[in-house]
Amino acid sequence: MTRFVALLFMLFVSNFADEKGVGILSTPEILARGHKYAAWFYSDGLDSLLQCVVDKKQGIQNVRESRRRVESQFGRETEVLNELTGKSILNSHRYYYVRHSRFSKAKQPVKMESSFDSADNIFQFSVEMLPGEAPTRFLNYRTKTELRLPFNGQWYVAAGGLNIYANHHAVSTDQRFAYDFLIKKDGFTFQIVIDHGNGEFSILAHLKRGSIAVKAGDTVEIGQFLGLCGNSGHAAQAHLHYHLQNSPVIFAGEGLPIQFQSYVADGREIEKGAPLWSQCVMNY
Ligand SMILES: [Zn+2]
Repeated sequence: MTRFVALLFMLFVSNFADEKGVGILSTPEILARGHKYAAWFYSDGLDSLLQCVVDKKQGIQNVRESRRRVESQFGRETEVLNELTGKSILNSHRYYYVRHSRFSKAKQPVKMESSFDSADNIFQFSVEMLPGEAPTRFLNYRTKTELRLPFNGQWYVAAGGLNIYANHHAVSTDQRFAYDFLIKKDGFTFQIVIDHGNGEFSILAHLKRGSIAVKAGDTVEIGQFLGLCGNSGHAAQAHLHYHLQNSPVIFAGEGLPIQFQSYVADGREIEKGAPLWSQCVMNY
């Protein structure tokens, strides 16, 4: 009996230590927090915001710099274009709020991004103007190759889509429609180029050093193992970069929109379509 009680107590303690007193927020609550921080930032609540910023040096400096940028370059917020909320996939107690807006003096949309927990600890807060999208003549292009998602299991779409809001790659001509896929698992540049034989070339990057199972000139089939995901090259964390372009030369050519066949996005079966930023996707 004593042992039973002790065990329960330990479980309780370890759970409690895990949670660090941080609770769960619902989607409307995440949105409300995002709005509260935005209101503090734009009105005279900057001190309240700074008090919640966890990183008292760099974090506070970033908020102050954002505020200076807004005052000196962007003017006032005239229209909210879209808002996105969610739970961090790397830390289940953290949430994010992203908002794109038009400003009176800014040429491009402005992105506000914050990351926080239920106890009003703010881990990140920034406001910056988005770069312009690379011009493309392929916006309505339909992929010729029958593409499957280039991985096994369920992955998170960390970046992907037609516009700069959802896809940071949209600034560059060759990676205009590229995807970054992230897996909830810990994992230098390893690239492989696949020629589909119809003017379409697949580029996969950040594969794990030494894991590439094919060599130049090999013919590959749908579903064939190519290599393991890693963080080779220009990547802060393990993820898979994938894009389609009209040239076999890396960093050259023009990016093409990508539709994949037969996949599941957030639990819904898609016969042919383009995964969207923040979805969880897998082949079926
Ligand atoms: Zn990428």
